[in-house]
Amino acid sequence: MIKPSFWESETYLQEADYLIIGSGIVGLSTAIQLKESHPSSRVVILERGSMPSGASTRNAGFACFGSLSELIADLKEESEDAVLAVVEKRWSGLKRLRERVGDEVLEYKEWGGYELFEAKDAQLYETCKEQLEYFNEKLAAITGRQETYRIADDKLNTFQFQGVRQLIWNSAEGQIHTGKMMVALETQARALGVVLVNGVEVTSYEAGSSCVYVYGKGGFEIKAAKVALCSNGFARELLPELKVRPARNQVLITKPILGLPFKGTFHYNEGYVYFRNVGNRVLLGGYRDMAAEEETTAKFGLTEKIQTALKDFLETVILPGRVIEIEQWWSGIMGIGVSKDPIVKALGPRVYAGVRLGGMGVAIGSLVGEELAALMLGS
Ligand SMILES: Cc1cc2nc3c(=O)[nH]c(=O)nc-3n(C[C@H](O)[C@H](O)[C@H](O)COP(=O)(O)OP(=O)(O)OC[C@H]3O[C@@H](n4cnc5c(N)ncnc54)[C@H](O)[C@@H]3O)c2cc1C
Repeated sequence: MIKPSFWESETYLQEADYLIIGSGIVGLSTAIQLKESHPSSRVVILERGSMPSGASTRNAGFACFGSLSELIADLKEESEDAVLAVVEKRWSGLKRLRERVGDEVLEYKEWGGYELFEAKDAQLYETCKEQLEYFNEKLAAITGRQETYRIADDKLNTFQFQGVRQLIWNSAEGQIHTGKMMVALETQARALGVVLVNGVEVTSYEAGSSCVYVYGKGGFEIKAAKVALCSNGFARELLPELKVRPARNQVLITKPILGLPFKGTFHYNEGYVYFRNVGNRVLLGGYRDMAAEEETTAKFGLTEKIQTALKDFLETVILPGRVIEIEQWWSGIMGIGVSKDPIVKALGPRVYAGVRLGGMGVAIGSLVGEELAALMLGS
């Protein structure tokens, strides 16, 4: 880092009241909430990328709170109350995001989400069918709909998927434009006076008696009264004891497809594979389960194994018999753990964490930010 000027020391590098590491949806939501609660406080975000560089700008943009088979699987691990509490959190988190950013800016479309079942999923489909009414009753109090889930086999002819025997529709699922969400949050944060410093990779911090000293690559230094770690899948790089591990996801998007026969969001293979329309393109990602060990990495990258599987699924199941051109490939890094619950807590005096958002960050990121800000403000 070049030696800072007097002006930089007086502004960007001045001691912060609240310093946030990571400018994903959680970091930005936390900063916005802190500024809204305490407008005169000095809130600084340090982000190592030139843009947010984790999951928030690289995800699939599903505004979802759980497919039926996901909730059934969760019920095997957790109590009914715990499972419904997560659904409630995802539902109200989405509501909060939509209020904050606005449906028009988000390009929010409530076209619903579908779960695909092939012949090999017959048993799972029967279980889902048996439990459909039960979940509809439970979810009515959350979504306000009598029929959140519905058998949608009548769509099979329209969608033309190959080998798909049944579909279950979640009428309350939506989709957003992930990039526009993040630009809007960043714009809001800056408008409130949050100082966003890009290109700073935090390498360590040291909590003193009256402040925290934060150090970055190349000799960067700043002091803050309180610090929040919002680096999700990368959190263990700074704090190895945190129970969060990285999970890479690979994604493709096609070129526009004439007469694309479906719109909405789609879940397959227990949610490990997901696709949606983006206008008349298809975005498809997943198959992390095919190479679980290899994909437990915080390194961006693409592998032939997963790219081949995704391409094959695109060409044989989603759009059989069509010539499809792929526009772009990318990867993103999620933060996952043994539990689906995010870690939102004080790590010690003056230092906090809001990490491990799994595949639910679009849904719960706003609330995690608010919860984290409340913790920082309260102690
Ligand atoms: C491919 C993919 C598809 C997904 N699809 C969906 C979906 O459809 N719906 C949904 O709800 N969720 C989805 N998710 C999950 C969702 O994107 C995440 O849960 C959410 O974005 C996490 O936000 P975050 O702010 O916690 O973390 P991130 O967005 O990862 O932000 C962390 C930030 O910290 C920065 N950082 C890391 N280390 C440092 C450091 N040392 N110093 C400074 N900065 C640092 C990173 O550069 C990054 O910008 C998906 C994730 C992926 C990867």
